[in-house]
Amino acid sequence: MPFQQFRPAVVAASTMSFLLLGTAGVHAEEPAQARSAPDIAVTKVMRHLDALQKISDANNGNRAHGTTGYQASVDYVRAKLDGAGFTTSIQEFEFAGKKSWNLIADWPRGGDSGKVLMVGAHLDSVDTSPGINDNGSSVAAILETALTVSAKKVTPAQHLRFAFWGTEEETYIGSTHYVNTLPAAELSKITAYLNFDMIGSPNPGYFVYDQSPEIARHFDKYFTAKGIPTEPATALNGRSDHEPFLAKGVAVGGIFTGSAEIKTPEQAAKWGGTAGEAMDKCYHLACDTPANIDRGALDVNTDAVAAMVWKLGVRP
Ligand SMILES: [Zn+2]
Repeated sequence: MPFQQFRPAVVAASTMSFLLLGTAGVHAEEPAQARSAPDIAVTKVMRHLDALQKISDANNGNRAHGTTGYQASVDYVRAKLDGAGFTTSIQEFEFAGKKSWNLIADWPRGGDSGKVLMVGAHLDSVDTSPGINDNGSSVAAILETALTVSAKKVTPAQHLRFAFWGTEEETYIGSTHYVNTLPAAELSKITAYLNFDMIGSPNPGYFVYDQSPEIARHFDKYFTAKGIPTEPATALNGRSDHEPFLAKGVAVGGIFTGSAEIKTPEQAAKWGGTAGEAMDKCYHLACDTPANIDRGALDVNTDAVAAMVWKLGVRP
């Protein structure tokens, strides 16, 4: 079996509350560099995408629900997080007669256990694609952000929890299962859920979720400082793992670089790229490989993920 244990995420969460009480006093040890948001090297992010492509190649060209490719993807990400000192847990569920898993990773160092910042991305692909932009791009970005939290020995103000969802491509089954089985007391601790689903599209747009004006404002400030105009991510409404959180009244935010939507001349004028072409011409296709990634977009968006984790969770 690929997994070491099968344990509902809620058990990990309640264990965490206990453990966190004992680490409240370590803030003084925090190194100075941990206080400012990191600049994450895109080469490190690309390494995870190459690994996910290799997993796809070895498993019939995809990492979809109910496949060995999905299991291997969970194993890959979990091993990285375990190695970095995260407390990981697997939440099992079933869909269409096949088992699947959410991977939840809690950062055990510091943080107000009553305030949880959650950051998530779906880890599955469709069965016709290796799923590197959709959604390896976001998996790699939040994974590398988590590894940076560890490398910098961050003692955050809020508890940090990273989620890698199963079975999103069948209408966000995994995240819905997580939200619906989380006790109300645990759900009420989640101060915000940040979702990432396709952030390295080859003909990229820069779209910001607009459900929470406050979180959207923080993202816009980041992109404005980089000279990048944004638009609301309305094409993603009802289409990713933020939906079940939104339905329970959790503040949600995120960014998106576009899928099959056609880039307009106005968008090409402000963002570059090719007008009249899809933002991701390989959306859900076999050509969604590392070659389908715009490294510039992935670079700026990975740093946006980290900036928002720091802004909302590490030093609000
Ligand atoms: Zn997706």
